[in-house]
Amino acid sequence: MARYTDSVCRLCRREGVKLFLKGDRCFKEKCAIDRRAYVPGQHGQSRRPKKPSDYAVQLREKQKVRRIYGLLEKQFRNLYEKAARRPGVTGHNLMAALETRLDNVVYRLGFAKSRSQARQLVNHGHMQVNGRKVTIASYQVRPGDEVALRERSRGNAYIADALESVQGRGLPGWLAVVPAEFKGTVVQIPLREQIDQDVNEQLVVELYSR
Ligand code: SF4
Repeated sequence: MARYTDSVCRLCRREGVKLFLKGDRCFKEKCAIDRRAYVPGQHGQSRRPKKPSDYAVQLREKQKVRRIYGLLEKQFRNLYEKAARRPGVTGHNLMAALETRLDNVVYRLGFAKSRSQARQLVNHGHMQVNGRKVTIASYQVRPGDEVALRERSRGNAYIADALESVQGRGLPGWLAVVPAEFKGTVVQIPLREQIDQDVNEQLVVELYSR
């Protein structure tokens, strides 16, 4: 499967905001956007800012959302098209579909420090849904699903470290977790106000509706 393999800090610098793609490092002084607050590339420092067009604003917002959740363009577009076919507000449907991906749920439950680490946990067979091993990061969870760490993975030092370091991150209202049992439950499909992500998904809808 194709995947992005360049430095993820470049993505934050390109978007001009912290996307929190690297776990602990994002909260330390080593964060690249704190040290080099200009767009990456040879001419990053010499570029003069100009007023962006509507298209540029929409494109940047779409790239930001896509990069936060770690999706490539094709996967993101497919998810958007499914969201557009569902009843309701397309932007909200899109955000709910992104949030209910299994890798994101593992991250939100605190089993991983970043979404990429969560994706690796899923791909490597550490997670199960309703008692069955699932290795597909894009798997869409549904209300009532129980997401748990497999028993033999519970001694994993990385996971213990993640559980400890994400203590203060807070749990969204659409999930419930029992840390002692290494499991969580999806209470409902998230409402937009329950998704703590500073993005304007309407711009994504406008971009794809052109
Ligand atoms: Fe982005 Fe984190 Fe890298 Fe900072 S350390 S630039 S927030 S990925």
